[in-house]
Amino acid sequence: MEWLKELNQQQLEAVLSTEGPLLVLAGAGSGKTRVITYRIAYILNMGLAKPGNILAITFTNKAADEMKERIKKLVGIESFSEMWISTFHSACARILRMEAHSIGFSNNFVIFDMQDRHQLLKECFEKLNIDQDRLELRYVSRQISNFKNMLISPSDTHKMGDVDPRIVEIYRLYNKLLKEYNALDFDDLIYHTITLFRTNPDILERYQQKFKYILVDEYQDTNDAQFKLIYLLAQKHRNICVVGDDDQSIYSFRGANVRNILEFENVFSDAKVIKLERNYRSTKTILSVANEVIKNNTSRKEKKLWTENNEGEKIYLYTAFDEIDEANFVSMSIKNLIQSGVKPSEIGILYRTNAQSLNFENALSSHAIPYKVVGSLRFFERKEIKDIIAYLRLVTNPHDNLSLFRIINVPKRGIGPGTVEKIKVLSDEYGISAYSLLKERGAMEFDRRTYLKLNEFIFLLEDIRAEADSKSVVEVIKLVLDKTKYMETLLSSKNEEDFQRVKNLEQLISAAAVFEEENEDKSLQNFLNSITLSFEEDEAQKEDRVLLMTIHAAKGLEFDVVFLTGLEEGLFPLLRAEDINGMKEELEEERRLCYVAITRAKKFLVLTYANNRRVFGRFSSRQRSCFLDEIPANYIQQVYTPLRKINFSDMSFNENQQSVTKDSLAVGDIIQHNRFGIGKVLSLSEDLNEVLIEFENYGQKRLLLSYANLRKI
Ligand code: ATP
Ligand code: MG
Repeated sequence: MEWLKELNQQQLEAVLSTEGPLLVLAGAGSGKTRVITYRIAYILNMGLAKPGNILAITFTNKAADEMKERIKKLVGIESFSEMWISTFHSACARILRMEAHSIGFSNNFVIFDMQDRHQLLKECFEKLNIDQDRLELRYVSRQISNFKNMLISPSDTHKMGDVDPRIVEIYRLYNKLLKEYNALDFDDLIYHTITLFRTNPDILERYQQKFKYILVDEYQDTNDAQFKLIYLLAQKHRNICVVGDDDQSIYSFRGANVRNILEFENVFSDAKVIKLERNYRSTKTILSVANEVIKNNTSRKEKKLWTENNEGEKIYLYTAFDEIDEANFVSMSIKNLIQSGVKPSEIGILYRTNAQSLNFENALSSHAIPYKVVGSLRFFERKEIKDIIAYLRLVTNPHDNLSLFRIINVPKRGIGPGTVEKIKVLSDEYGISAYSLLKERGAMEFDRRTYLKLNEFIFLLEDIRAEADSKSVVEVIKLVLDKTKYMETLLSSKNEEDFQRVKNLEQLISAAAVFEEENEDKSLQNFLNSITLSFEEDEAQKEDRVLLMTIHAAKGLEFDVVFLTGLEEGLFPLLRAEDINGMKEELEEERRLCYVAITRAKKFLVLTYANNRRVFGRFSSRQRSCFLDEIPANYIQQVYTPLRKINFSDMSFNENQQSVTKDSLAVGDIIQHNRFGIGKVLSLSEDLNEVLIEFENYGQKRLLLSYANLRKI
């Protein structure tokens, strides 16, 4: 085990302390994830347990994949199908697939993602006659989520505190419908696993026995239910290792509870605590900047974090005219960086809200830079993919009403909204699924013409189901595309978008093929399960592309170069200025997010904000983020033009071309503006503050020289 040398003293201690509870509490980039990875490799190599006896929890599927890759290299084993390295959700889904009958679900349950969930909630609102304007759907959704995360069932009203009774009513109906559809939402996966264990001590005992070693990464972001779950599972062997950083707790809005860190030492009173203090990821400058920001939080455990890495460059700050200028600055800089030899996938663009991605996407594509947005417009949420998945779900479970209504008229087969509405009403009345209704009562309830169409649809479903029985996932998908004429319809279209859809469906088939190669359980159910849970990530991520994502999605990742954008009051921190005084906790969580963002950078950190931004279509002026003021000026270098070439080996940017000042500009000069491109100076105001320019593509513009960032060419 030569590789044990790749650990420092404290890390080694954490890896070797395999027996008993262990808490590793340490700052960003100090090797917490590395400890977990090496610990698993060590356990396997020493023969302390078989792969099937290890349960490792990561925060994302991407992190799980990376961990498997790494262990594969360290230990040299090929098959991971027995080992449980996954997110909480995937682990629970895997347990419930085997045990669902014990909690009144059948094993072929479907997993509802956020969209399904909102769809179903909408139905609940309608059924209960509750006005959506009065009670916001997202708010209710969050409440229900909170209840589930706190293990509060609809009948536990006494535990709910002061809550709108309509929410309780919706919660009850929502759960009832889930059960009817044989569906679970994300929160249910954990909730029901705990219920399963609580009500079936023998089953719990089996899993307690099985998981001899339990490891949890990003422990600071576990919620109450997740804590409970690992607590239950670890009772027997008590070999539980959790690693986390209280400064990186950024999911309290989803019920994550930093107190779980303190709680760990209470519940496992003999827990060993190890601190890691050396950061291996970032330059001294980047680490200092991160420390300067986070030290403004009052409620935190004091931590030392140091590094022997280079001093590195100052961090760069660009003040953009507006969000489009910001996106252009970022894209042009990235273009130069890539030309200097930086790998696209070593560059990350981070922002606070998903909506910010669009401008970057536009600018990146206009510069022909390969990129990938993580988190939004996800592959499995695209229409055509969801349609086919709906068919697949119906193959495993024809009573899944949501899926049925999704595709009852897709591709178009002449079943109109009126008929669909009638099916909904009737199936409600009879208390049976739409599928059963159509099969058993179709002929009686509908006129002959409609009945024929409906019958054809049911016949199609049954036909697919019958043939699917003996087929692999790839074959079933092809079968669905073929029998439904879905592919045919798209192929006959001349629409570019439909062509894209064809490409996406081909991608789905590839994904299924990969699934079949990699999984022991190759069933359709397991495939559906795995894709619902990989909602954040898809194949494209493995390619060499610039990654765009929210800070939340960037947790645990690292990049050579990070662009942290939109550093403006009201955007990041995402609070209104007037609210700040009253919202210390929220501001502290925003600051932790800022800390997470900064510490993703290994070598270069570039911060940007815009003086103006279109918000809901309105152009408004902006103020720079208070977080910028927390960074001492000596760490910052203001830049006015896109970053030029860099020499990556000694990690220094070449001289930045300075923008023109009022003394250096004259009428007739040809200049370049980041947004408007090339233009000619027509006139200058008397005080030389304003300049009138004729742009090649934008006509005449009057600009303030101090903001315009013009370059002479
Ligand atoms: P985060 O808090 O962001 O999740 P972390 O504490 O999990 O960070 P890792 O991702 O495990 O930190 O490690 C950060 C970087 O430092 C990785 O690139 C890792 O390979 C490297 N690293 C960790 N420990 C060592 C070591 N002992 N020697 C060399 N490199 C190391
Ligand atoms: Mg980590």
